[in-house]
Amino acid sequence: MSFEYAPAPESRAVVDIAPSYGLFIDGEFTEAAGGKVFKTVSPANEEVLSEVAQAGAEDVERAVRAARKAFEKWSALPGAERAKYLFRIARIIQERFRELAVLESLDNGKPIRESRDSDLPLVAAHFFYYAGWADKLGHAGYGADPKPLGVAGQVIPWNFPLLMLAWKIAPALACGNTVVLKPAETTPLSALFFADICRQAGLPKGVVNILTGDGSTGAELVAHPDVNKVAFTGSTEVGKAIARTVAGTDKKLTLELGGKAANIVFDDAPIDQAVEGIVNGIFFNQGHVCCAGSRLLVQESVQDELLAALKRRMSTLRVGDPLDKNTDIGAINSAEQLARIKALADAGEAEGAERWAPSCELPDAGYWFAPTLFTGVTQAHRIAQEEIFGPVLSVLTFRTPEEAVAKANNTPYGLSAGVWTEKGSRILWMANKLRAGIVWSNTFNKFDPASPFGGYKESGFGREGGRHGLEAYLDV
Ligand code: NAD
Repeated sequence: MSFEYAPAPESRAVVDIAPSYGLFIDGEFTEAAGGKVFKTVSPANEEVLSEVAQAGAEDVERAVRAARKAFEKWSALPGAERAKYLFRIARIIQERFRELAVLESLDNGKPIRESRDSDLPLVAAHFFYYAGWADKLGHAGYGADPKPLGVAGQVIPWNFPLLMLAWKIAPALACGNTVVLKPAETTPLSALFFADICRQAGLPKGVVNILTGDGSTGAELVAHPDVNKVAFTGSTEVGKAIARTVAGTDKKLTLELGGKAANIVFDDAPIDQAVEGIVNGIFFNQGHVCCAGSRLLVQESVQDELLAALKRRMSTLRVGDPLDKNTDIGAINSAEQLARIKALADAGEAEGAERWAPSCELPDAGYWFAPTLFTGVTQAHRIAQEEIFGPVLSVLTFRTPEEAVAKANNTPYGLSAGVWTEKGSRILWMANKLRAGIVWSNTFNKFDPASPFGGYKESGFGREGGRHGLEAYLDV
């Protein structure tokens, strides 16, 4: 007799999704002025989860007006009072943890283990962390009594819907700003559940407004003349368009854009530990991570050993139902994203790199891509330069630390990097030379609300997280 550890899938029934949702403006759910709606589907099986309002210019106008009105009172509250609301929101998130984790996995496609053990704990942690700052802003190093900016227009992507919302809303509110936030069109639901949490916490009306919609809604929001601060996370292309819109206005801007991180493994690194870090770096969240370790740079002398161990480990990854607690890799977020990943992987083959994937059965319905490895990749290949934003790893080699740095820095991006070596002095040397906002050593994808996060070059500018994250929402 054999015993296999197979916990039951997480229950879909713990979350009650309404057949339709309106926009959240001035503390109320309301239909879009133009009456337009769009469907949000589960990428794991293409089931329609709900129908959501599509905000247009008139709705942006209403939401910004509500946020402007709320700003007067919210910004005048003592920091300790604002902190009470943020602490309350953090505690409600903890209470509704399971429901939110299942919702996030349904709408986004990510494995429940990740939404439960990674996304949701970090979401609550960000609200707790910035609640703690609300009454200490005079001690943040920005002068005795720094002032908020006003109305923040925030646009977020679909890869970490609730976590990106927390990164944006928690510091904005702590500093006394009010918010109009637009979630991504493929993952609107957790932001709407968050609106309900704001009501549950008794947050004054208009302090947080949620406008669901597509890129046109985002464009209306960032261009609105009464928005004082624009915060965007998403593609470099849209980030540049937003920078052009904001140029010449007095809006403050932060951009968190794409990445093409190098995970650099030296010959003295503990191979098993490095393999775990590489797998986590590129397959966590299906590789839909701006700081994903999508390029493996391995020192030539350990290439064979490392790749053999990596292929063995990749063969154990389970791809499938996001609600199954055994799943390592969930569904690709949308048909469009799947098409982008396929196109870039095909380009890798066409340009001469060697493609490998473990044999794994993919479900029929929904959007799926097997974990994939490319060897024989050169720096000029598209798969070494462009962000794939999927479970695809490009392997390059190096001989010396100098060569590793030169190759790691040779992309238009500069968000993150990983360095695997036993040698402390080499870690410090590399961290200094790498043009990356975050450098992890002997680990990858570690996040903490107290750490600033952000990139160099085309990965954007400004920092989110930590004390530095306050600066983006204060008139310093
Ligand atoms: P995107 O930049 O198109 O969308 C991100 C957000 O911006 C969404 O809410 C979208 O509705 C909104 N948006 C789109 N056009 C806009 C405009 N003109 N003005 C204002 N807002 C606008 O990203 P995507 O289509 O979701 O993904 C495309 C690529 O972006 C991915 O393949 C990946 O390379 C990158 N990406 C990066 C991150 C990150 O965290 N850095 C996150 C998601 C996507």
